Amino acid sequence: MNVLLCAACGHRLTEPLRPLPGLPERPEYGGLKNPDGSRHAPSTVPRGTYAVDPEPSGAPFVPHPDPEWAGAAIPGVCISDPDGDGFLMSAGPRDTLVTHPEDTAGRLSHNPESSEIGCCGAPGQEGPNRVCGCCGGLVATLFSDCYVPYEIHFLPDAVQVEAAE
Ligand SMILES: [Zn+2]
Repeated sequence: MNVLLCAACGHRLTEPLRPLPGLPERPEYGGLKNPDGSRHAPSTVPRGTYAVDPEPSGAPFVPHPDPEWAGAAIPGVCISDPDGDGFLMSAGPRDTLVTHPEDTAGRLSHNPESSEIGCCGAPGQEGPNRVCGCCGGLVATLFSDCYVPYEIHFLPDAVQVEAAE
C-alpha cells in the first residue's frame, strides 16, 4: 500500500492506496440521484486504490489541430473552440494520479482561487480546484459534477508516493 504526500510540506493527502495496473474503464452513469442524495458517477477507481492516467488531464484546453476532430476535452464533455470551428482538447499534465474522491476526505481543501460553478459538483474545467489541507499548495483537480467522471487527479509534480503499512 502507498499514500500520497504533499511534495511541498509532507502532509498526507490520501488513505493507504493500492496501485492499479491501469486506469479502469469509466463506468456509465445516467445522471440519476445516488442513495445519499448526491448526483455523481460511480468512481472510476474503487476505494483504496489509485491509477496513473497516461492521457493529458484537465486544463488548459487548446484547439485540436484537426478541425474535423470531435472528441471530448474531458471524458464525456466536448468543448467547442470559441475562436474556431473545431473542438478543444486537454493540454493538461499527463501521468496524473487518479484516486477515489472519498479516499481524500478531510485532507484537501477547496482552492480559494477557483471560482468554477458546477451543477451538482465540481466540473474540474478551470484547473486544479483542490489544495493541500496543510500548506495550501495546489495539488489536485476534483471532477464530481453529474456529467463528468467521479475522480480526483493529483498533479504528478505536487505529490510524493510513499510506501505505507
Ligand atoms: Zn502541503
